[in-house]
Amino acid sequence: MSNFEHVNLSDYVLSNRSSFPSSNIVYSESSSNESLTFEQLCVLIRQINAGLQYKVGLKKGDCVCISSPNNIYVPSIALGIMASGGHITPVNPLFTVQELKKQLVMSKTKYVIAHPYNLDTVLEAAKLSKIPIENVWSIFDDPKKRVKSWKEILLQDGKEAGSVSFSFEESKSMPAYICFSSGTTGAPKGVVLSHHNLISAGIGANKVVSSNPSVNVYQKILGIIPLFHVFGILSFLLTSVYQGWEVVMLASYDLENVCQIIEKHKINSYRGVPPMLLHLLNNPSIVDKYDLSSLKLILVGAAPVPLALDRKIKEKFNIQVTQGYGMTETSAVMTMQTIENYVPGSVGRMLEGVMSKVVDEDGKELKNGEAGEICIKSSIVMHKYLDNPLATSEMIDIDGFLHTGDIGYVDDLGNWYVVDRTKELIKFNAYQIAPAELEAILLECPLVADAAVIGIYDEKRETEVPRAYISLNSQNKQVFRKGLETITQEIHDFVNQNVIHYKRLRGGIAFIETIPKSVSGKILRKNLRDLFKSEKNKS
Ligand code: AMP
Repeated sequence: MSNFEHVNLSDYVLSNRSSFPSSNIVYSESSSNESLTFEQLCVLIRQINAGLQYKVGLKKGDCVCISSPNNIYVPSIALGIMASGGHITPVNPLFTVQELKKQLVMSKTKYVIAHPYNLDTVLEAAKLSKIPIENVWSIFDDPKKRVKSWKEILLQDGKEAGSVSFSFEESKSMPAYICFSSGTTGAPKGVVLSHHNLISAGIGANKVVSSNPSVNVYQKILGIIPLFHVFGILSFLLTSVYQGWEVVMLASYDLENVCQIIEKHKINSYRGVPPMLLHLLNNPSIVDKYDLSSLKLILVGAAPVPLALDRKIKEKFNIQVTQGYGMTETSAVMTMQTIENYVPGSVGRMLEGVMSKVVDEDGKELKNGEAGEICIKSSIVMHKYLDNPLATSEMIDIDGFLHTGDIGYVDDLGNWYVVDRTKELIKFNAYQIAPAELEAILLECPLVADAAVIGIYDEKRETEVPRAYISLNSQNKQVFRKGLETITQEIHDFVNQNVIHYKRLRGGIAFIETIPKSVSGKILRKNLRDLFKSEKNKS
């Protein structure tokens, strides 16, 4: 990808200002009258940047954790941090103390900006990670006055810093975001997305906008995809502000609320994940009460889209659904589908300049139409996994190709199709669940001797869910005293105390004498998947 006029992501995002009036509202709150124009956003970014550099003393390369649901201030704070030379590790604000602490420590977070509702969790995790309370700010006024408001960071007068600039080479490795993903195997790892990576993704996605009249229109977007996931970062930072579009921010998902907001704000564009589309289709008693006629386009991604879902949405609501495909390690995006290149079932075409290939199990390149592992080489590919050269080299080969762990193929016209996944990753409603993380937690439970987790498809929920196979700890006398029902419940309780809601073992717990493993000790998940199939056939 070419056209690198900027090395700081914050500058890139604001660089298209001559294409629209600076009085354009770029963010508004769905539940209040608060909003930010492009001009106000620019002022805020300068004030945060100056405050971080001159009041707080943030140094180039320092990490700031943002723990908040979506609201109009998260993008300003994120862009201000990047302008000051710092970077962000975004977290799900519902993380447990242990989950948060792990990310704070691994990302070497120095500062935290958090929504007040989860401050107790944040303060406990910060304490365990040795982050002093003076380095924690609240994103809205903290009613209990535990910490200062982030607004105290702002430097309103005096020096107004320009963004910290790097050399072009430096921007290739200088982190802008450290997001967490388990990749193809193992526990979640810090994905270093450099300024260069995310600018490349922005340039690629904005080019798709400018070359396709169907998306090159003013968009008023429903901002529900969280800014702690790369899909939210791509949608509501890299493209929307650049285009001067308005994002109506929504903190949490509720179908009725979503419909109300679409009607009230005359939303014409929606970025969503597959379950949200299913909700629209399957709940006429809610949806039919509202006028959704303003909504023309839904861009869906982050997880497989059930076949024919786009057609059903088009038939019922006259809304065009297009897909995007990407992963955290590719700066959110690889392919984008537009109305102009729409083919049912396809995830669209690769961004301009992305080199791609499909390989079989032996690494042999396959022809168009043949399914194998999708691999890409591009400046959108992450810089590295933080402090994990082994995992980085397992993911990116010596020729610079990233191995996605997804199975797919490309047709002669360049349309891509994702048909399966070979990696361990489980996607519950587009949220990542790493089996290795759940296995590590299960092994801490005194009732458990060994454990393995696989993803199974839950027809009712229409998503993947994690299922655990457990070999019980026969040394623990309680195992013999309690019935299996009690033991199952106790294991569920143990897991639930330690994980955020979406990682719960919704696929159930099954008991097994020994966990099948290879001679090198690797869990043979395929055997467990086969076992599950035969259990299902019997029932
Ligand atoms: P994440 O890093 O959380 O964005 O997850 C990336 C993974 O989600 C990809 O490697 C795919 O397995 C899956 N994924 C994302 N988008 C799609 C899509 N449109 N169709 C099928 N799978 C997808």
